[in-house]
Amino acid sequence: MSVLLQVEDLTVNFALRTGDLTALNGVSFALNEGERLGLVGESGAGKSVAGFAIINLISKPGYIAGGRVLFQGEEISALPQEAIRRIRGNRISMVFQDPMMTLNPVLTIGTQMVETLQAHRDIGPSEAAAIAADKLRKVHIPSPEKRLRQYPHEFSGGMRQRIIIAVALLNDPQLIIADEPTTALDVTIQAEIMDLFLELCEQSRMGLMLITHDLAVVSETTEKIAVMYAGKIVEEGRTGDVVRSPRHPYTQGLIAALPQGEHRGTRLNQIPGTMPTLTRIPPGCSFHPRCPHVMAVCARREPASLPVDYPGGGQGVVACHLFDPQRHDE
Ligand code: SF4
Repeated sequence: MSVLLQVEDLTVNFALRTGDLTALNGVSFALNEGERLGLVGESGAGKSVAGFAIINLISKPGYIAGGRVLFQGEEISALPQEAIRRIRGNRISMVFQDPMMTLNPVLTIGTQMVETLQAHRDIGPSEAAAIAADKLRKVHIPSPEKRLRQYPHEFSGGMRQRIIIAVALLNDPQLIIADEPTTALDVTIQAEIMDLFLELCEQSRMGLMLITHDLAVVSETTEKIAVMYAGKIVEEGRTGDVVRSPRHPYTQGLIAALPQGEHRGTRLNQIPGTMPTLTRIPPGCSFHPRCPHVMAVCARREPASLPVDYPGGGQGVVACHLFDPQRHDE
């Protein structure tokens, strides 16, 4: 299986008058072709910053302070803006939580889809309209030719999100980055949208990077998980391994807080304390003020990322002193 996306030591800072703040701190992970990765953590963990940084969409005062992003072996983080613009919406598409961030309320769906297609391809309006109708069909929107003549407000929230996914599919991307794509929807519609992502990924061997606070959604949809806390990845492994046998105390807290049954989709808020703001990231392990296993070393030294084995034989990476055989509890 070849590597689709490789993120190496990616760091994003925000330049403020009072100095630089680090929002993303040395994040590394890889995604193979056709693979689905969940980037999970509470609000403020840096998940969305990671998504935007991959496609070089960090707006000022933010900037990429280090690391690199390779897409199909090409270092896209080094490309000029014009070249990365050609990749965005073409080989890599993004789907956001709020469809109205992508859709223009005063243009028909058809006009918007045709314009998006023509921005990337040299094709006429009727060919573009045929492709647009085909993509609406792929996301299970009935009577697509008729729907193309309608405006965004004529669709329900779930249907609008399907349209956004159809827009993301227009240029047959190899990777979709979906940032909280179902958070605004009710639980039944959420499940339908995630089923749709699964179906589309499997049909066309498209990679999916799913950014969400909802571990339940990630556990049902992805093959790999990267858990983020305060701008860093604290645990990464196969989804089944991490969900069944979480190693990092933060992941353990997320799993323990996982709502069951009719409460699915509720925000994860049961770990005592809150995610630190960028101006108040604690020294050492940034999770130490909330960690039930905190040791003296945790407040002094930042834990390195270490390989771990899971009971089923899988392997992963954890940033926690508990797994450091060289640890000295000074
Ligand atoms: Fe807890 Fe220490 Fe591990 Fe951080 S390094 S998660 S504080 S045990």
